[in-house]
Amino acid sequence: MKKKIAKSAGQQPQLFTIATLGSHSALQILKGAKDEGFHTLAVVTPHNERLYKSFAFVDEVLVIDRYSDFPNYEPELNRRKVILVPHGSFVAYLSLREHKAMSTPYFGNKAVLDWEADRMRQREWLLRAGLKMPRQFTRAGEIDRPVIVKLYGAHGGRGYLFVKNADDFGVRASHLVEQQYIMQEYIIGVPVYIHYFYSPLTGKLEIMSMDRRYESNVDSLGRIPSADQEGWDLKPSYVVIGNQPISLRESLLAEAFHMGEAVVRVSREICPERGLFGAFCLETIVTPEAEFYLMEISARIVAGTNLFIDGSPYSYLNYDEPMSTGRRIAREIKNALLSNSLDLVLDQSSKLTGFEFPEIVPTGVAVSGPGVPAN
Ligand code: ATP
Repeated sequence: MKKKIAKSAGQQPQLFTIATLGSHSALQILKGAKDEGFHTLAVVTPHNERLYKSFAFVDEVLVIDRYSDFPNYEPELNRRKVILVPHGSFVAYLSLREHKAMSTPYFGNKAVLDWEADRMRQREWLLRAGLKMPRQFTRAGEIDRPVIVKLYGAHGGRGYLFVKNADDFGVRASHLVEQQYIMQEYIIGVPVYIHYFYSPLTGKLEIMSMDRRYESNVDSLGRIPSADQEGWDLKPSYVVIGNQPISLRESLLAEAFHMGEAVVRVSREICPERGLFGAFCLETIVTPEAEFYLMEISARIVAGTNLFIDGSPYSYLNYDEPMSTGRRIAREIKNALLSNSLDLVLDQSSKLTGFEFPEIVPTGVAVSGPGVPAN
């Protein structure tokens, strides 16, 4: 049943605090929130305190000993009228269970996390959306082409192995415990990470920006002529070091857009009724035949968007002002407040009873770009 959240008139963003953990893309999120008129709060560890305090757009910092203590601060957050904007560190520092158990108002749909966190379910989701994925091998004996062995729980590509064939697997990877990795066909192409935003208020999808990751050492092997690599036991590794902006050939853009639409459509079937909304990223490899192979989906803001705090060529097409993904999230929350639709952008666990909603006559939602609700 739909929760009744606000009473009648629109709500003003300055009465609410947008908060996030001080890492990953927090600066972008909080800058965007400030630009949209929210009060901002960074939840930080002592090590990060001075850094986050040094930015004028961070109104307050809440210092906690460890990020894993974060759920204990729920009453404090609710008292402050906080709306949490999650990023990659939420899943890295908090268990899925803890993360889901929190009832602080939360931008996004936590039901999607179950599908995102499990590589098998993620694959089912993306395949149901009609997207191409690298072939997956379940047994070493099946390997008939180069594969990448991906350890579960690896982050930023750490510990991934390139394996040339079944024999090579025997030498290099047979010690790994089977349940703890997957073997995927190795796709040779350009890794392109496409950052999307889907608005539950307008039903519109936007491509916000794109990046390619720069990984060590795989992206540097080409600097040594292959003849000189001979006899040198060089193995590629995939540890992400940074991100580079990329713009896609315009002829590939329609496909990128359709992929985003398909993922959102299927998400409503697997996580009824609301599915995936807000920021998400499709991590692809584009082959010389211009085919997109999906490596993964991230169902939230990704760190590659940090390249575009001032907007990207794509966001500029939709907005006549700098529009980062972080700011786009804040704008969605603002538009939801102004149109009394906050429940449409928050997870259903969000406990809003503590919120006192003063009634304010709406000042209108005269904001440019596609993130404008039809009211
Ligand atoms: P993150 O959590 O930061 O997204 P991750 O640990 O989940 O990273 P992936 O994004 O799955 O890692 O992959 C890391 C890198 O490994 C990719 O950027 C790409 O260079 C390489 N890679 C992954 N899958 C494949 C594949 N099937 N073929 C070729 N390269 C791959």
